[in-house]
Amino acid sequence: MEKTKTVFRVKKDDEVRVMAGREKGKSGRVLKVDHAKGRVLVEGVNMVKKAVKKKKQNDRGGIIEVESSLHISNVKLVCKKCGPVRTGYKFENDKKVRICKKCGEVV
Ligand SMILES: [Zn+2]
Repeated sequence: MEKTKTVFRVKKDDEVRVMAGREKGKSGRVLKVDHAKGRVLVEGVNMVKKAVKKKKQNDRGGIIEVESSLHISNVKLVCKKCGPVRTGYKFENDKKVRICKKCGEVV
């Protein structure tokens, strides 16, 4: 038996679903991954209001909404077939590829 370790490995441009917290159920595209902190930034998810100063003449200034990072363990990769899934790895032609644990497809 192969030992399976749960790995939360998402990368930029992956489609993920939020599985816990206040943004539970939302999904979006990964904008940024901070491996050191174990956090991800997901497009349109976990928006927070932020005050910005007017820098240029045509800047609006005031309050804008920006994405705030989520802990990587709170998101799951979305498989096109199965929805949010756990991922694993396998070797294909000596190359490590990421697979959906449910259907076995490369994701
Ligand atoms: Zn799948």
